[in-house]
Amino acid sequence: MSSGKVIIVGSGVAGMAAAIRLAVQGFAVQVYEKNSYPGGKLTAFEKDGYLFDAGPSLFTQPQNLEELFALAGENITDYFQYKKADFICNYFFENGIALHANNNPELFANELQEKLGEEKNAVLSYLKESEKIYNNIGSVFLNHSLHKRSTWFNKRILPALRTVKTGYVFGTLNKHNKKRFKTPEAVQLFNRYATYNGSNPYKAPGMLGLIPHLEYTEGAFYPQGGMISITNALHQLALKKGVTFFFNTPVQKIIHHEGKTRGVVVNDTNVMADIVVSNMDVYFTYQYLLNDVRKAAKVLKQERSSSALVFYWGIKREFVPLGLHNIFFTKNYAAEFASLFTTKTLYNDPTVYINITAKMQQGMAPDGKENWFVMINVPANTGQNWNDFTQQARKNILEKLNRLLQTDIELLIETEEILTPVLIEERTASYQGSLYGTSSNSKWAAFLRHPNFTATIKNLYCCGGSVHPGGGIPLCFKSAKIVSELIKTDFRAGH
Ligand SMILES: Cc1cc2nc3c(=O)[nH]c(=O)nc-3n(C[C@H](O)[C@H](O)[C@H](O)COP(=O)(O)OP(=O)(O)OC[C@H]3O[C@@H](n4cnc5c(N)ncnc54)[C@H](O)[C@@H]3O)c2cc1C
Repeated sequence: MSSGKVIIVGSGVAGMAAAIRLAVQGFAVQVYEKNSYPGGKLTAFEKDGYLFDAGPSLFTQPQNLEELFALAGENITDYFQYKKADFICNYFFENGIALHANNNPELFANELQEKLGEEKNAVLSYLKESEKIYNNIGSVFLNHSLHKRSTWFNKRILPALRTVKTGYVFGTLNKHNKKRFKTPEAVQLFNRYATYNGSNPYKAPGMLGLIPHLEYTEGAFYPQGGMISITNALHQLALKKGVTFFFNTPVQKIIHHEGKTRGVVVNDTNVMADIVVSNMDVYFTYQYLLNDVRKAAKVLKQERSSSALVFYWGIKREFVPLGLHNIFFTKNYAAEFASLFTTKTLYNDPTVYINITAKMQQGMAPDGKENWFVMINVPANTGQNWNDFTQQARKNILEKLNRLLQTDIELLIETEEILTPVLIEERTASYQGSLYGTSSNSKWAAFLRHPNFTATIKNLYCCGGSVHPGGGIPLCFKSAKIVSELIKTDFRAGH
């Protein structure tokens, strides 16, 4: 057991998961959070009887949470319950095709065969390959720091590297999918997985073909009470393990002296610690907390991930064809991604995602009504006119949904809230409002993402979506695990 004090900057998923792990290791852990609530992007709100998850809506790899509770010696079911969703997603195409992606790979493959004419075996072998890429390569690279020699001497590395096909690195995800499927609908469906870390399938490497495995083989899950239950469970577990939280307390500066972290400044007062872990966007960590403009600029050499415009709509009717997750695809995916990453403008026929937790649980919306979380991907904020974009996007989305659902949706909206990239940045200090830190729009993105430690300041570590292994809840959990293991090793070595 270690004794020493750790300060964590920010109470996002990764910050809280790191806090729990370090408290279990025996550290006295304090979390400073600028907001009045924990969870960062993983938050929720209630309006006019509708409950809305405000940020993430897809929950995969519950084993990350299970592992935390087991490590802490607590029974997860006392804090958190979840179930497997029967359907992964409903997909709607402009040509009238609708797919209901079952969580059973066989049934999903049958559906693609019947409705699209894709060979069932092509679908099943795609999912098998996805599983293989994840197990052989993904799990090694996502669970370890890529910036420590020990990782490269790990005995799993060589066998993992041997399974990397050139197409996984040098081909794009779109190319990977086009080789395996003959219909544009199947290619589009599997290209969509690049958006799971805010990337562009026409640029991101084929390696992202590992993501469907997480949904189709491992499963998509629904947390009882909605996604906010993840935040609540983490917060409660951290408190139980003795972690102290200070809300409404932004960290103003990280103190370091002679190449070593000494603590932080909050409320204009020095608070000393042996270790500091920043869960704040790594760009802002350098820019504001360390005043290191040069390092901050270096972080920006990596393209940011996309952001989102979200409309939270209380809908005064139920829609039978819809489920928990629904996607209404654009006709022209390539043009949509060019808008997102090249021209950084709004695309007039966006792919629309709708999440409805009322489909899974009573009480999330008034009886006979539905809580719609309606999201489109938009470029990260580089100063576009978001008032104009929001109005235009609302119109585009309504036109598309009216067409595909054959109803005047606007007449059914009885309450509304909106989230823009600017608000995402304001609320969670994520540079440009990007959802997942940096994108994976280059072959080397995984290697160029910032490490989980800083090279020049000892005992300063980084976790969360803007650093290795990247954004999204499962990877944030992994970054917390990597940080806690680095700290364990460093402290054993007497840092
Ligand atoms: C609309 C939306 C939809 C998404 N959909 C999904 C999804 O379906 N599935 C999925 O897996 N992921 C999704 N994501 C991404 C996911 O939410 C993030 O990757 C993840 O929650 C990031 O967690 P984090 O630990 O990096 O911290 P964040 O959530 O970014 O939190 C960082 C915390 O640090 C605090 N902070 C910052 N600066 C300071 C400071 N100086 N002092 C003190 N505190 C500070 C912030 O207030 C914040 O609470 C979505 C995100 C959004 C916004």
